[in-house]
Amino acid sequence: MDKSRRKALQFSGIVAATAATSVYGSTSNKESTKSKDTYKAPIAETKKPRVVVVGGGWSGLSIAKYTKIFAPNSDVILVEQRHEFISCPMSNLWLVDKVKLEYLTHDYLQAARENNYTYFHATAIGLDRKKRILETSNGDIKFDYLVFAPGIDYDYSRWTKDIAFETRLRQEYPAGFIPGSEHISLKNKIQNFKGGNFILTVPSGNYRCLPAPYERACIIADYFKQKKLKAKVILLDENNTITIKKKGFQSAFDKLYSDYIEYLPNTKINNIDLDNKIVETDFDEISFEDAAFYPHVRGAKILERAGVAKDAKNMLEGDINPLTYEVNGEKNIFVTGDSRPMGFSKSGNTSNSEGHFVAKLIAQKINKTEKVKWQSPTTTCFSVVSIAPERAIYIYSQYAYNKADASFSFDSTSDSENWVKDGATNSDSVYRWASALYTDMFTNK
Ligand SMILES: Cc1cc2nc3c(=O)[nH]c(=O)nc-3n(C[C@H](O)[C@H](O)[C@H](O)COP(=O)(O)OP(=O)(O)OC[C@H]3O[C@@H](n4cnc5c(N)ncnc54)[C@H](O)[C@@H]3O)c2cc1C
Repeated sequence: MDKSRRKALQFSGIVAATAATSVYGSTSNKESTKSKDTYKAPIAETKKPRVVVVGGGWSGLSIAKYTKIFAPNSDVILVEQRHEFISCPMSNLWLVDKVKLEYLTHDYLQAARENNYTYFHATAIGLDRKKRILETSNGDIKFDYLVFAPGIDYDYSRWTKDIAFETRLRQEYPAGFIPGSEHISLKNKIQNFKGGNFILTVPSGNYRCLPAPYERACIIADYFKQKKLKAKVILLDENNTITIKKKGFQSAFDKLYSDYIEYLPNTKINNIDLDNKIVETDFDEISFEDAAFYPHVRGAKILERAGVAKDAKNMLEGDINPLTYEVNGEKNIFVTGDSRPMGFSKSGNTSNSEGHFVAKLIAQKINKTEKVKWQSPTTTCFSVVSIAPERAIYIYSQYAYNKADASFSFDSTSDSENWVKDGATNSDSVYRWASALYTDMFTNK
């Protein structure tokens, strides 16, 4: 390391150390005396039990609303880093202009107003467990109960350890599985595509929204087909088969898109040559004109930073009791939603229904009432397989807990994958489902 860089690092180390001690420490220099108040979040004091929820997604919104309903005497703060909510579910339809951005976008202020909690715009950056303080970019918040519902982050490390290369992948070929700019980039790529190969990937493991990459392949293929483009969606799947709704997706690939989708299961990517636009797999070298590379997922980074993640299978999800959602060794900190370690489907419906249950658990502690029995979350998931005419397939499932080996399995599953027969009816239900869930999260109904 050269001298100037070492100096710069030493300097930033000193700054970091000073900042850290000035928050809670007892250093006597002048800077630190004013910092105690400076770092307090601008939130009114309360005598009520305070529940702080990190993450205003499908899980956090549900927990904030229902905790307030089940424990009206609580003070609930929703800490969210985004200014507005943009829905991942239904976003594949927006990519091809089937719904508008307004349809996906929702108002945190409305959700908080109608459900009597506080929306606090900030990023959670740390946790002082002993003092029960959540540290955020906009100050510290004291809590009695804390829920982490921060969703996922991407894990590119299985493709590359080279950060510069990872940055190029994130920027030039975003996955489009965390909403915002990634989705906008993807939409522009699809709508400006002139022809050739458009690569999509499916990671292995319990990735976010099992059916979404297959649904996305169908919707993009439908778009290319309608535009009569000489184009192909190449779907590189690390899994040895379609991971969910296999009958429905496979028949859509075969019957509707045989000229537009090339599905390659069991395909591990060994290298991506970004300059020459070639993906190297065990069997092939595939050239591409454009792509969205979906890497493996892991629990959102704040879990690791707050010391509540466990490193099982590199997923870095919450280190929790799977029946009570409590962080191991803590009775008042919880991890929920897509950052839970249980193998439930990482879906919005799962997170929302689970949120209702976790709110009951927290309310039970606040109200000091009888223990609440474990309830299964519900996975209800619709996938659109064609746009014109619009047809969809769907799956419903709950989960059973197997005491003997402390695991979960699918229970009471049903599906409707015959899109020729039921596709139009399922397609109406897609909008009814979304409307019901948005109403649940953003209004008091
Ligand atoms: C393309 C696509 C299609 C999908 N389709 C469906 C579908 O049809 N049906 C379905 O049920 N599910 C679907 N899903 C899955 C669904 O979107 C996720 O499972 C769901 O969003 C998970 O909810 P969550 O609350 O755990 O995480 P999120 O919804 O991601 O919410 C996490 C929130 O935490 C915030 N956050 C993170 N870190 C911090 C921090 N440090 N401080 C403050 N805030 C923080 C984030 O900004 C985010 O708002 C789809 C997903 C995608 C990508």
